Amino acid sequence: MPVNKEKYQEISAELKGVTLVAVSKTKPAEDIWELYELGQRDFGENYVQELVDKQAALPAEIRWHFIGHLQSNKVKHIAPFVHLVHGVDSFKLLKEIDKQAEKNSRVIDCLLQVHIAKEETKFGMDEAELDACIEQAKELRHVRIRGLMGMASFTEDSVIVRNEFAYLGLLFNKIQKIVTANFQFDTLSMGMSGDYRIAIAEGSTMVRIGSLLFGARG
Ligand SMILES: *Cc1c(COP(=O)(O)O)cnc(C)c1O
Repeated sequence: MPVNKEKYQEISAELKGVTLVAVSKTKPAEDIWELYELGQRDFGENYVQELVDKQAALPAEIRWHFIGHLQSNKVKHIAPFVHLVHGVDSFKLLKEIDKQAEKNSRVIDCLLQVHIAKEETKFGMDEAELDACIEQAKELRHVRIRGLMGMASFTEDSVIVRNEFAYLGLLFNKIQKIVTANFQFDTLSMGMSGDYRIAIAEGSTMVRIGSLLFGARG
């Protein structure tokens, strides 16, 4: 399936200040090139090995977002170059990212993932875990907490989706009041192909869109 360049232009024009992460997981490097040539620089991947391979094969200007579920033992593979880790769902993982960032003499930007959907399968912390993680994160020097990430329920019912995004927006506003050296809360990553308009209406600053741009995944 070809890359949908018209859709890309259409979505880009619609987003205004919201950052578009083009989710290229399972798609070949040639597809990424097509959007790169149109000016797209932020790409999102879910699998560590795939991300490492693509990073090596594609231009260094690309900002790589890791949006999948990251296992602690794999952090070291992406620590040298990853731009933003979206799915941090435990302090243990955050600590490992901090450790690997220090080894690479850098600071890695992270988003804390919050469980907002009804489904059991979606990863993320609840509000109490989030508060505890933020408290512990204050001591880390090689990660910078940039905000929150969440995924709404997979449903046709837009009221449910809107309520879940609104809840994440509330948590984001709450934590934005925390001021400490390694926090810079300016990013709320929510919204995918099916629900990005609702997410933006509820305050999203970053959407992660795959299938609308690259076609359905096999
Ligand atoms: C795959 C994926 C996306 C993109 O989903 P689409 O529905 O194809 O836009 C966004 N976020 C995460 C975390 C994903 O895994």
